[in-house]
Amino acid sequence: MTSLAYSSTEPFRYPQRPVTLDIDTWLYEYEEHPDCGVCVALDKECREAIEQNRLRAAYEASSEIRNGHPEHTSKAGA
Ligand SMILES: [Zn+2]
Repeated sequence: MTSLAYSSTEPFRYPQRPVTLDIDTWLYEYEEHPDCGVCVALDKECREAIEQNRLRAAYEASSEIRNGHPEHTSKAGA
């Protein structure tokens, strides 16, 4: 007869924590301009890259928002 490791009477010892990204988030911070088509595209790219754990791509996308185009465009693909 096997006994289970966890008794049903034992309080749950490890409450679930929210999922956090185990990365240095400051590397991926940026201030995107909602009206800037480039920013919107890069923002999307950065979020997808983080979700897929492609941190290099995420960093490059966020870096481009920060540094790549100081004068934000107001039209996508202009
Ligand atoms: Zn921009």
